[in-house]
Amino acid sequence: MPDTFALAVHGGAGTIRRESMTPEAEAQYHAGLRDSLNAGHAVLAGGGSALDAVTAAVMALEDNPLFNAGRGAVFTRAGLQEMDAAVMRGEDRGAGAVAGIMGPRNPVQAARAVLENSEHVLLVGEGAMEFCRAQGITFAPAGYFYTERRWQALQDELARQASAAPDTRSDEAKHGTVGAVARDRHGNLAAATSTGGMTAKLPGRVGDSPVFGAGTWADNETCAISATGHGEYFIRWAAAHDIAARMRYRGDALDVAAEAVVEELGRIGGSGGLIAIDAAGRVSLPFNSQGMYRGMIAADGVAWTGIYRQPLQQG
Ligand code: ASP
Repeated sequence: MPDTFALAVHGGAGTIRRESMTPEAEAQYHAGLRDSLNAGHAVLAGGGSALDAVTAAVMALEDNPLFNAGRGAVFTRAGLQEMDAAVMRGEDRGAGAVAGIMGPRNPVQAARAVLENSEHVLLVGEGAMEFCRAQGITFAPAGYFYTERRWQALQDELARQASAAPDTRSDEAKHGTVGAVARDRHGNLAAATSTGGMTAKLPGRVGDSPVFGAGTWADNETCAISATGHGEYFIRWAAAHDIAARMRYRGDALDVAAEAVVEELGRIGGSGGLIAIDAAGRVSLPFNSQGMYRGMIAADGVAWTGIYRQPLQQG
């Protein structure tokens, strides 16, 4: 057990329609998830910390324009991008998050700087940006984050709202998030989550990702969690903390607690899913939507990824 390490990642959950996905697009998603798993695995295999592993895994997904975080983030109804990110460390529940930022190339690094170099837990907007500049965080120009696909998704949504037509978009066009959870060789857990939020959100809207106990959580005694889905529900149900509480106070196993919370969210309209890992390195990847981009890797270095409700594929 002491030498066990494992990592899981996600790239968002929702109505991921197989019929609107080409084999090439599917292959790209699997490759993106594998790149992220391999980045995190390299850290863990070298004896690195769970916190470094989840940061590396999330950075790989932020850099990939396919996923709604960093490069490729969705647009607000004002046509801007506002990103949220969080990291949490299981040893001491150290936590850092940013919300409503635009400019730092890897928002998860901004969250990490809040954790390590400030006395606060969550910084937002212009103050967060000023902090990032002072910390020497790398910025990228607006064009770096822009993708035609996300811009078009905003135009489609604004047109739909103007015509009062029913919402038939796949969730994939509306939102998405990336995240990672890990257990390192020393038995420490960590979680990281990063997102552009929801397409056509009101400027200033903050989702569940940077809200600890909702979309992100890590505590060595119970579990580490990164969620994806309709953030407002995950906040109202304190989803991540509910899982940890079921484990702590009731002795539930990780998969029992995680599946129950995701199922309950589904019943009340909160579509989405999450990735979770416990102190023994056991992983649970439940979702109540059609699909969730997800993957896991353990010490053997074999990457497993999946999109739909099927067993994970070895890649
Ligand atoms: N949970 C994210 C948010 O509400 C969106 C998503 O994961 O799809 O900002």
